[in-house]
Amino acid sequence: MMVKYNAILALLLLTIACQSQQKQASPKTKEMNYKVQKSDTDWQTELTPAQFNVLREKGTERPNTGEYNLHFESGTYACAGCGTALFKSATKYDSHCGWPSFDDAIEGTVVYQKDTSLGRVRTEILCANCGGHLGHIFDDGPQETTGKRYCVNSLSLEFKEDDK
Ligand SMILES: [Zn+2]
Repeated sequence: MMVKYNAILALLLLTIACQSQQKQASPKTKEMNYKVQKSDTDWQTELTPAQFNVLREKGTERPNTGEYNLHFESGTYACAGCGTALFKSATKYDSHCGWPSFDDAIEGTVVYQKDTSLGRVRTEILCANCGGHLGHIFDDGPQETTGKRYCVNSLSLEFKEDDK
């Protein structure tokens, strides 16, 4: 009887172990307490397929192709998923990396998460309101300001011009 129990227990533990491993390997946004919680189906209805790939599946747009890569107007860049204002145009600079780059984010609007995909250790940046994937942050930004480079996909952003 005991042997049978142990066998069941072992099987159960193995199942749990496999499941948690699968969870880790998933590229999807980890379930956190984001204010905006939507199903993939809802996101797919609201976003274009390219936006969905970046924001919800952590895709990356090809360098030098994004709408805002060389965009320098006065205004605010908001999350394309939920509309939260994330970056001010005053913090945008040309880093020549092929993606929109900012040396700072509007306080409290971005969350940082360790990303070990592609065999590298990077810091992923996500919208603090909806968990949408924005890009990554690097330490090679302008030394005269923060030294940070927020490397963001244009597809994650929506520009709102300042009122004139
Ligand atoms: Zn958002």
